[in-house]
Amino acid sequence: MQIASITALIKQSARQAGFDLAGIAPARDFAELQHFPRWIAEGKAGEMKYMEARDQSANLKRASLRHVAPWARSVIVGAINYNTQHPCSNQIADPDRGWISRYAWSRDDYHDAVMRRLRRLEKDLRTGNGSLTTDLQTRCYVDTGPIVERVYAKYAGVGWIGKNTCIIHQRQGSWLFLGVILTSLDLAYDFPAPDRCGTCTRCIDACPTDALIAPYQLDANKCISYLTIEKRGAIPEEIRDGMGRHLFGCDICQDVCPWNRKAPTTSAPEFQPREGLVNPALEWLAEMKCDEFRERFRASPIRRAKLSGLRRNAVIAMGNSGQRKFQATLERLSSDPDPVVAGHARWAARKLAASGV
Ligand code: SF4
Ligand code: SF4
Repeated sequence: MQIASITALIKQSARQAGFDLAGIAPARDFAELQHFPRWIAEGKAGEMKYMEARDQSANLKRASLRHVAPWARSVIVGAINYNTQHPCSNQIADPDRGWISRYAWSRDDYHDAVMRRLRRLEKDLRTGNGSLTTDLQTRCYVDTGPIVERVYAKYAGVGWIGKNTCIIHQRQGSWLFLGVILTSLDLAYDFPAPDRCGTCTRCIDACPTDALIAPYQLDANKCISYLTIEKRGAIPEEIRDGMGRHLFGCDICQDVCPWNRKAPTTSAPEFQPREGLVNPALEWLAEMKCDEFRERFRASPIRRAKLSGLRRNAVIAMGNSGQRKFQATLERLSSDPDPVVAGHARWAARKLAASGV
């Protein structure tokens, strides 16, 4: 089968599998990847050790596909819109409640939802390209593989990398889950998506912790998404004020992005929110017990924060709420058996007491 025909089949198959956008990039070392080793060396990845995974020759795996899949010739990138008809974080002001990032509301774990579609596409690729199937190699990744997906998404024409470091499509916006298939096939490649950020700096201006240290550059150590999801143990005191009432992740730099104003919404049942996760009550999460955490967040990305992290985040949010009515709860939590929760509760209680509200 001709390259053009296989490529057309992949695009058609991607649509049928449920991807809203799909494109193909060559498996090259694009210029953006050259910054990755320095970003790691400067400690901008925080404690995310998996980002520093190296091959046997001590090369950073994520710096080049040659380090992890030297056989790969092409990268197929699929994107799924997960936006739903619910308000943005900057449209909600109830101080008793906090924010869970939009991507984590869904009924199904997005890794599974995207991987299901990738597997279907991979199957079509293997069964649909005739004589080329014999020595075809493929590998699917959703979010956790040793590949910087957004770089390949850009070169596959799926969207440009915004100054907020997210992939943005001019019609779909940036509420996108990405999945990739590496393949040994040579395919017809898409053009990279042009950068449409222009002179806008809304995301940089709106970031409450100055985590966007320059356009297109994130310091994870300051990013609320990293702090609330990946960071274990104590959160540096100097950054807690800026975390506001974020409980898991942060959507601010996407909520303010003009390209999301008219972003379409999905009606797919798997991406509709679980009950109670849009703008949840702070006290509910601060006092959550192990059994409820396991039950409520079964197959949810929120499990990544672990119960201790989620409760720690809720306690910080209570301290930032200005609501003196949380004082009694915080004082009780100051002697919680979890020392992380207890330590942050003491900080939050002191902050509320000092606020004089
Ligand atoms: S996710 Fe939040 S904290 Fe992180 S860069 Fe965006 S606005 Fe800043
Ligand atoms: S807010 Fe503006 S600068 Fe930031 S990603 Fe969106 S368009 Fe680009």
